[in-house]
Amino acid sequence: MNSTNRRTFLKQLTVGSAVAAGVSILPAKASEEGASDQAMGVLVDTAVCVGCRSCEWACKTAHGIPAGDIEDFHDRSVFKEFRRPDHTSYCVINEFPAEGSAKLPLNVKYQCMHCIEPACASACIVGAFTKHETGAVTWDGSMCIGCRYCMVACPFQIPTFEYEKAIQPNITKCDFCYDRTKEGKLPACVESCPVEVMVYGPREDLIAIARERIKRYPDRYIDRIFGEKVVGGTSWMYLAPVEFDKLKFPPLGVKPAPGVTEAIQHGIFAYFIPPLALFSWLGGVMWLTKRKEAILKEVEKMEEKENE
Ligand code: SF4
Ligand code: SF4
Ligand code: SF4
Repeated sequence: MNSTNRRTFLKQLTVGSAVAAGVSILPAKASEEGASDQAMGVLVDTAVCVGCRSCEWACKTAHGIPAGDIEDFHDRSVFKEFRRPDHTSYCVINEFPAEGSAKLPLNVKYQCMHCIEPACASACIVGAFTKHETGAVTWDGSMCIGCRYCMVACPFQIPTFEYEKAIQPNITKCDFCYDRTKEGKLPACVESCPVEVMVYGPREDLIAIARERIKRYPDRYIDRIFGEKVVGGTSWMYLAPVEFDKLKFPPLGVKPAPGVTEAIQHGIFAYFIPPLALFSWLGGVMWLTKRKEAILKEVEKMEEKENE
């Protein structure tokens, strides 16, 4: 279903004519452009990270999120609590006590994993997510109806919603610096790291590099590349000196999450929600979204008048 058809389809829902039109609902495809052999990725070596948070600062700066002074990012008191990426920071560093072969505390960067088969994209019923050939999974706010199903579907709890934003709240997450990488630049976080924790490159090459490091330094790393196979593989992959559950990575299998998501989605559509109830719910969500857009336009008009 292309974007025009999707919009037409959703328009039909708002006036309650979808059932009469005989439209059947299918989950959005996990990948509109498809995973590519040329897909890029990042290998993160947690044994090397010093927790300086330059990557967090660079990510915010590259995405227009107020970052403040880089010096503030050297305050280590932030590590007292485990943090997750959100709309104020698309990536975060956490700290764990020294363990295994590590003599110093372990610092670990978290962001969207850019899954090969992204559950967020599979769950989104209007196709607001796109899996690009580069490996990046991006989100289009103009298509989003605010149902937040992507948040439920993501096995890594990555997409977050701007709850405190009254007008046009967005889903937010790392976009793998799609605009930068399209121009041949490195992701901002990768470029900023002073100790080269992250390597950006073709995913297959990164797996070979990771295997070589494990072979060469068996005392430094456990024999596992997180992301190589988990949930069908991810673009971001990790090496670590300890088991990944000790670094708060979720215990996931190798089965791609979209399969699970689609089964749930089909279940919902087929058995649990009567079509008319579903359509009126979607219509309600869209009405609220449109209402917010209308309010925003009115506010803009008022501001323009005030400035005249
Ligand atoms: S980590 Fe979550 S948000 Fe990122 S691509 Fe995978 S399913 Fe989507
Ligand atoms: S790839 Fe870009 S958006 Fe993602 S964490 Fe790095 S700097 Fe942020
Ligand atoms: S910039 Fe590099 S060393 Fe510093 S916290 Fe980020 S990944 Fe770790």
